[in-house]
Amino acid sequence: MSDAYERLGEFIDSLTIVDTHEHLPGHESRRPAHLDVLGEWLTHYFSRDLISAGLDEARLARVCDPQVPLAERWQSVEPYWRAAASTGYGRALALSAQALYGIERIGADTIEELNRRFVAARARGDHYRFVLKEKSRIRVSLLDADLGADRAFFVSVIRLDGLICPTHRRELLAAQRRLNTPVHSIRDWKRAMELELEQALAKGAVAVKCGLAYQRSLRFDKVTEAEAEVGFNELFSDLNAPDWRSGIKTTKAFQDHMMHHLLAVCEQRGLTVQFHTGLQEGNGNVIYDANPVLLTNLFLEYGGVSFDLFHMGYPYTMELSNLAKNFPNVFIDMCWGHIISPEAARRALAEWLDAVPANKISAFGGDYCFVDGVYGHQELARRNVSRTLANKVNDGDFDLDRAREIAQWVFVDNPCRLFKL
Ligand SMILES: [Zn+2]
Repeated sequence: MSDAYERLGEFIDSLTIVDTHEHLPGHESRRPAHLDVLGEWLTHYFSRDLISAGLDEARLARVCDPQVPLAERWQSVEPYWRAAASTGYGRALALSAQALYGIERIGADTIEELNRRFVAARARGDHYRFVLKEKSRIRVSLLDADLGADRAFFVSVIRLDGLICPTHRRELLAAQRRLNTPVHSIRDWKRAMELELEQALAKGAVAVKCGLAYQRSLRFDKVTEAEAEVGFNELFSDLNAPDWRSGIKTTKAFQDHMMHHLLAVCEQRGLTVQFHTGLQEGNGNVIYDANPVLLTNLFLEYGGVSFDLFHMGYPYTMELSNLAKNFPNVFIDMCWGHIISPEAARRALAEWLDAVPANKISAFGGDYCFVDGVYGHQELARRNVSRTLANKVNDGDFDLDRAREIAQWVFVDNPCRLFKL
């Protein structure tokens, strides 16, 4: 272990960092009380590696079922757990087990004790403060789509995806009620979007988030209002249909037009918009829909919007490098990245630091639905940034002072500036 690595590690461990992206329950009291450690920890991420390793969905459901004896569930999941244990997801959970519960190795002989400690900690309460503040040293986390979240830990980010891609006329009726505004034309619908945004900002939202890469391509063409309205009007074509009737798919032209409207409104307000790009959670997704280069026309047109591009664009990390180098309004966000692949995160960061100004990278966002995972992720993030910067120092690219400055920027100053924290 090099001297530079140790000294940088010490400095980075001393930082109270900004977390650009989470999906945690907005209040600790809303954690699911019926789940045990396997149920909560396999909500997402590592469970997908288990599926990838060969576990089938029906057995995964049984592994997460607290009614089935824990030892029996562990036995059925163990071969897949061992197969995936050294992925970023697996290592994050191992780090959390060690630091939060004092369990050195998750296995048949420790799973019962891990669960006892997990359940006891949840019953004690104060677990958000313990994990996020005491152990993870996080100043604040940006929370996806929860405007009423606990302000001791979170600031909110608003999602307007439902107004760009409504999937059922019920959503249109709900928006009318929620915003107390009638909707009969696409102009009314755009007004509803503006109202929703205004209300969110008044409640303290610091940015807008777009997760539409899960549903469609990130290419949003320039479309006239007239063309878009044809698609919008289809929402009214089944007004007489029963409520349980299956959803509708709005036209791409309508969705494209609404995205451009949203960005025009965000530009007026000088807002940052977070975009999901790259890897999608789950198994069997369409990765080419999420390539960040598809957003290029939006970067060109909306120069007044800051685009915070998520997940290192993985696997399009070099494309993201090109975009962030080229466009003053494109920023790199490593949220989710250090657990998708710790090695890819280090390699990408090393390359970005050679190509992209260091004021454009945010190094950490936990992106977890359960709080324990955040600890393991921030630990991997701190180690990854230490290792990458130490290599640069050892290679003679810059000195230790510059490395410390960059660490301070990517973990704290850059996200603070981007989200006006
Ligand atoms: Zn997310």
